[in-house]
Amino acid sequence: MSPARDYYQVLGVPRGSSLDEIKKAYRRLAHQYHPDKNPGNPQAEERFKEISEAYGVLSDPPKRANYDRFGSAGGPFGGARPGPGAQNPGNFQDLFGDLFNDIFGARGPGANARGERGSDLRYNLEITLEEAAFGTEKKIRVPRRRPCTQCNGSGAVTAAGSTSCPTCRGAGQIRIQQGFFNVAKPCSQCDGKGRIVRDPCSRCQGAGSIKSRHELKVRVPAGVENESRLRLQGEGEMGAGGGSAGDLYVVVQIQEHPQFKREAGDLFYDLKLTVSQAALGAEVQVPTLDGPIRMKTQPGTQPGRIYRLRGKGMPSPNGLGRGDQNVRIEVHVPTELNPRQRELFEALGREEGEEPGGGDRGFFERVRDIFE
Ligand SMILES: [Zn+2]
Ligand SMILES: [Zn+2]
Repeated sequence: MSPARDYYQVLGVPRGSSLDEIKKAYRRLAHQYHPDKNPGNPQAEERFKEISEAYGVLSDPPKRANYDRFGSAGGPFGGARPGPGAQNPGNFQDLFGDLFNDIFGARGPGANARGERGSDLRYNLEITLEEAAFGTEKKIRVPRRRPCTQCNGSGAVTAAGSTSCPTCRGAGQIRIQQGFFNVAKPCSQCDGKGRIVRDPCSRCQGAGSIKSRHELKVRVPAGVENESRLRLQGEGEMGAGGGSAGDLYVVVQIQEHPQFKREAGDLFYDLKLTVSQAALGAEVQVPTLDGPIRMKTQPGTQPGRIYRLRGKGMPSPNGLGRGDQNVRIEVHVPTELNPRQRELFEALGREEGEEPGGGDRGFFERVRDIFE
């Protein structure tokens, strides 16, 4: 903690601010930097301490007056303590107690101040490239805990079958002092439920929850990218002691396609032509996502040339048109010739002015040079 920091600067308010303005600034910052919201972040924790310290002084009129007089040096934990009562940690406890209610209360209407949010779950969903292109709906089965329906999650046969937990007095959480923080933790004796089961439910053996494979429908949008994460809110693990459920992340994994390679919105397809098809031009059948189509290649098509089939690629995820399918030409040079083919290639070679089959760099070597 720097002794020179200015409490008004810490809260980002002008010197003449009203108590209301100071409270507002504090609430906003405290929500942002609260350790519960920034686990494992020492900077946030340090900032949170500063904010709370500044608020502790500026929200208390006598302390504030003292502080204003003595300036930014010192403070309740510094050298010059501004006035009596500043050392009393009780003031800070009250402050943090309020803050907890603020934070938990901010979780939404009907939110429970008790309990822990359930963990997020991940599910890897494999789909084909065709399914990725046009979208699909998949049924998946996710193993997770859900409240037992027989006992409504209480774990007890009847309402009288459980009693309030003596450790947390039914609150489901206990508060412990950590430095000058008052931190709430789920009660370990009752697992945050606030109640102890005397007469356990036969279905869940008193746990109040049952692990089952839950069936869900997942809609995969058209044009989805590999490794896209689809978030299903509240479909993760259930919370403890009244906390909300976590989320389920479905991670889309697109299988390798035997014929198409995908690059963003475009597809690549390798088309093999024979030497004569490449030289003379041809009409060939090409597979696309929409089924096979006929395509004409020009006479004298060189290997590596790309024919573009517009609009035959992947649909864009935002519904704005489709990419292209790129047909990349390969030329297949025969590795074995029957006598008739040999005769014809030799005749072709003579026509091109070469000694058939002879010389260091005959027709086939040159063809190989080109194609390899
Ligand atoms: Zn049960
Ligand atoms: Zn308890």
